[in-house]
Amino acid sequence: MRRKLVAGNWKMNGTNADLKEIEALGIAWAAPRVDIVVCPPATLVSRMAFALGGQRSRVGGQDCHAEASGAHTGDISAEMLKESGARYVILGHSERRADHHETDEMVRAKTEMAHKTGLTAIVCLGETDAQREAGETLDIVAAQLAGSLPDGATGANTVVAYEPIWAIGTGKVPSLEQIGEVHEALRTKLRERFGDEADAIRLLYGGSVKPDNAAEIFGGADVDGALVGGASLKSTDFSPIISAL
Ligand code: 13P
Repeated sequence: MRRKLVAGNWKMNGTNADLKEIEALGIAWAAPRVDIVVCPPATLVSRMAFALGGQRSRVGGQDCHAEASGAHTGDISAEMLKESGARYVILGHSERRADHHETDEMVRAKTEMAHKTGLTAIVCLGETDAQREAGETLDIVAAQLAGSLPDGATGANTVVAYEPIWAIGTGKVPSLEQIGEVHEALRTKLRERFGDEADAIRLLYGGSVKPDNAAEIFGGADVDGALVGGASLKSTDFSPIISAL
């Protein structure tokens, strides 16, 4: 049985003052049934981990480098995230694939480093509007999955987030059938490659998840939770999403 997971991706938002949103989540953080992760900008990882203390909830980074250290100005290593208190790291988000030209191969190398370091990778994939219109969605996500996940992925070290690019920050959400179709295809591919372990890997949906659509999305087939962007920034939005799970 896979534990449900709600992960918040703050993207390039948040300063010290916003840590109060984490504290304000209160009871939701203690929810025993679900895992909760918040991925703030790297500058806040350590402070957020400290603010959370021994609670069940976890902090994550939004990216890490594929190498352990070296001359990579502006980058952050998996070990640095871990030392700061992170237990998760988002990898291969479509915004990084677009803004930083990250390929599946690069995402796979980063995921390998995350695994080696003991971080759980939340590996993101998803099609563009044009790819969906062209009927290519299942081929695209299957190729991204195959290319971005290294061998050795397990339920403990890997979470897969399906985030259709056209649904991110747009208020557009795929139908339950569309989400279900993609998750089913991903699960099948995971089983082909990882055998029984595939059933332990959680599949999240991401893209315009809000308090008013969360319950419906969580009711979809093979949806183990959500990766939430904008609605993870305010406790008044994030808390009801957690409760909906
Ligand atoms: P929104 O929830 O703001 O659409 O962002 C989704 C996302 O990209 C999470 O990683």
